[in-house]
Amino acid sequence: MGRKALQKWVHRIPDNHYFSREHFSKNESVNLTVIEFEAMRLKHYGRITQEKAAKKMGVSQPTFSRILGSAHEKITKALIEGKKIKIHVEDHHYTVSFTGYGCLDCGHEWEDISASKDKKVICVRCFSKHVYYLVKY
Ligand SMILES: [Zn+2]
Repeated sequence: MGRKALQKWVHRIPDNHYFSREHFSKNESVNLTVIEFEAMRLKHYGRITQEKAAKKMGVSQPTFSRILGSAHEKITKALIEGKKIKIHVEDHHYTVSFTGYGCLDCGHEWEDISASKDKKVICVRCFSKHVYYLVKY
């Protein structure tokens, strides 16, 4: 027998419970920057520590925390007010870095966040062993 779950208080039921193209009545959106998107991706999707995430983005921990807080506020606003979320990829205040591999035989390049030059890998497209470690900044 499991323990009885503790009562949890909810002060507001969501007005918007479904987020898809046909459910947006208004055309309003919240605008997320690529920086904010990356902070959320690293912290909540990649599940790495704030310290590591800040280092990966080349910012201090307080700055990372501020970026993440801003992203949370915008996403929360979109959830509560039923707004679309737009990510502004065209604002170029960032540098795209890439860690992965490239294939000498077919030319294919692919991202692998855990890539290292010591790993033996084969091409994901042509299965060649002639693969090199690739980092782009
Ligand atoms: Zn290949």
